[in-house]
Amino acid sequence: YHGKRGSADIVVYAGEDMSHPTQWLVVQAELRHALARDELVLHYQPKVDLRTGEVVGVEALVRWQHPQRGLLPPSEFLPAAEQSGLIEPLTAWVLARALADQAAWTATGRSWGVSVNVSARNLEKPGFADFVSGLLAEHGTPAHRLLLEITETALAADTRRAEQAVLDLTTRGIGISVDDFGTGYTSMSQLRGLPIAEIKIDRTFVRDVLEAPPSQAIVRAIIALAHGLGSRVTAEGIESPEVADWLRRAGCDEAQGYLYSRPVPWAEVGTYEITGAAS
Ligand code: C2E
Ligand code: MG
Ligand code: MG
Ligand code: MG
Repeated sequence: YHGKRGSADIVVYAGEDMSHPTQWLVVQAELRHALARDELVLHYQPKVDLRTGEVVGVEALVRWQHPQRGLLPPSEFLPAAEQSGLIEPLTAWVLARALADQAAWTATGRSWGVSVNVSARNLEKPGFADFVSGLLAEHGTPAHRLLLEITETALAADTRRAEQAVLDLTTRGIGISVDDFGTGYTSMSQLRGLPIAEIKIDRTFVRDVLEAPPSQAIVRAIIALAHGLGSRVTAEGIESPEVADWLRRAGCDEAQGYLYSRPVPWAEVGTYEITGAAS
């Protein structure tokens, strides 16, 4: 079984057992139950303002608390969810959970925005923007406090439909972030037509930015492009103070990475302000 997008997707994502067709179906069936039994959890990773060192928002990252296999990362089950249609209830769950958590932080005086990753399949679903708007209203969250992270690949998947979905969302005031920028196939004309709130520089360029001139050129170009388009720019995967410093000097606005915090459970997120996220 290779799914409709061909075998390449599965090879990329396959864990130890996942290439086995039976295992693939088992994961789908189990995931269906996981949603029903509330076995998914969100961890949050802070986003830090590179100039002030302050936490300005958090990104929700889904995990599966599997009864036998322990805490599973998204790479173990998202591909199965995307290919089976379970990505719709999964994203609905993630959005509802993240907005409820966001409302709880707001109640304690933290004015953080929350970022949620969405898949191409979510954008293809008619009425997605209305669905998200409805959830925002339910939780009393202003639309601009939510950023939906869309990978470049998702934007490029079905250009017209993806663009329309993005416009539907931004019309309602919801922010759009282009995730893993630099690794996909977004065209410049696509970017020109879309009001993008944030561009996230992929970790692969950030990782070696101190020693690799090509990465430096790419990172500088992405920062200039983002600012020219009126977008904020965030670097992901920052693991050292030296890299953070380089990015700050290069004009990058925000940063995420293990330097500041790994993704952590909700209860630990509230301590960021006290411990200080800056290096
Ligand atoms: P992403 O959105 O690009 O998220 C960043 C990933 O890099 C996360 O992996 C995070 O734990 C990891 N990371 C953050 N800082 C560092 C660092 O300094 N060093 C290194 N080595 N890694 C770092 P994670 O949580 O395993 O998520 C992987 C991907 O799964 C995400 O990439 C995102 O595309 C997807 N994903 C996660 N949660 C959701 C979700 O709720 N819905 C959807 N559709 N996709 C999700
Ligand atoms: Mg992301
Ligand atoms: Mg990313
Ligand atoms: Mg990434």
